[in-house]
Amino acid sequence: MIVNNSLDEVKKRESALKIIKEIINDNGRDSLYDVTGLSGGFIANDDELDLLETYVGPAIFEDELQIVGKEHLGGEKVLAVNRTSSGILASILALVNEGDHVSHFLAEFPAHPSIPRSCAIVGASYDEFVDIDKFTIPENTSLVVVTGSTMDHKVIDEELFKKVIDMAHEKDIPVLVDDASGARLRTAVFNQAKATELGADLVVTSTDKLMPGPRGGLMAGREELIDEIKVKANQFGLEAQPPLILAMVNGIKNYTEENLVKAISRKEEFYELLSEKYEMFEKTPTGVMVSEDALKNQLEKLNVKTELSKKDCCFLWAMVLLKDFGIITIPAVGMPGASATIRIDLSTQDVIDIDLNELYEKVDQSFERFLDLSQDVEKSKELIFY
Ligand SMILES: *Cc1c(COP(=O)(O)O)cnc(C)c1O
Repeated sequence: MIVNNSLDEVKKRESALKIIKEIINDNGRDSLYDVTGLSGGFIANDDELDLLETYVGPAIFEDELQIVGKEHLGGEKVLAVNRTSSGILASILALVNEGDHVSHFLAEFPAHPSIPRSCAIVGASYDEFVDIDKFTIPENTSLVVVTGSTMDHKVIDEELFKKVIDMAHEKDIPVLVDDASGARLRTAVFNQAKATELGADLVVTSTDKLMPGPRGGLMAGREELIDEIKVKANQFGLEAQPPLILAMVNGIKNYTEENLVKAISRKEEFYELLSEKYEMFEKTPTGVMVSEDALKNQLEKLNVKTELSKKDCCFLWAMVLLKDFGIITIPAVGMPGASATIRIDLSTQDVIDIDLNELYEKVDQSFERFLDLSQDVEKSKELIFY
């Protein structure tokens, strides 16, 4: 095993960033293809940047965020936080006490680790469910969480979504929706309603997922709850700073459903190409992916034996994709605990117009190189901890 804990994941991420810097220095930004679906964009003009240096800026941008944020997410009030994880932590700090319980419903495991981790910090018990018949809300529950779209872009069924909200509300328990990518994926691709329209009390989305914004978290919902969460966010420094808020405003203004809709049809073509040779690819709403298990099965099918764990295999292939082909995927650059699934999102600016045969060649060649490397643990280590 090469990557065994969060520290190893941090080291692996540092390697990936180092490789990205080398590629940019040697060949420029155009030789990178970010297919993570996380753009981390920072749209701002000079006038806006000048305003950041005065006390006027925050007043203007925060006010503007209230307007565009409410259009994007609905709700009575919005709150900008540093990350989606920060919003989840602030919510749990505000609404959940020691000895309380949090029940979480999602379409498919795994859930984002920030939810159980935040529960552990306050000393609350936590349970997560993917089967509605097993879903329960014990008496000491103070918060119900619903994930709109998982890290692997598995989207919840809208009827189940409403059912969980109803079950919580029957017991007067507020519902927080982790709609990190879902706020756009569910609405643009699956024609679902906004979480707040479905009755959720709180929603948090990630402003760099499937939209041209910075990494940050945007919350919306019932004003009294948002106010309580804002207090905790401020007390613990979880709130977004003015530069982030400026870029969030512009990210939301520049978001269109067009790229997502275009990616839906292109992913079919791409999936067909890949599936002529490989069994491991699955479709996502806006691209394709290979899960840890699917990669393991593909290796077995090819009779390739390796000492690497299935997670290590994902990390290794992701590092090959990055180093040799400039393709950035989440297992290479993700934060500790992020999904090891190799997802290729076709809605991102870098590949929205790319020739799919060209992209196929890169993926195919990278896989061959990964297979070679997987036979040599030392060399694999050298790449993962570059
Ligand atoms: C990405 C994601 C998060 C966390 O977002 P951060 O910006 O990393 O905090 C939480 N939940 C889900 C479902 C996600 O996809």
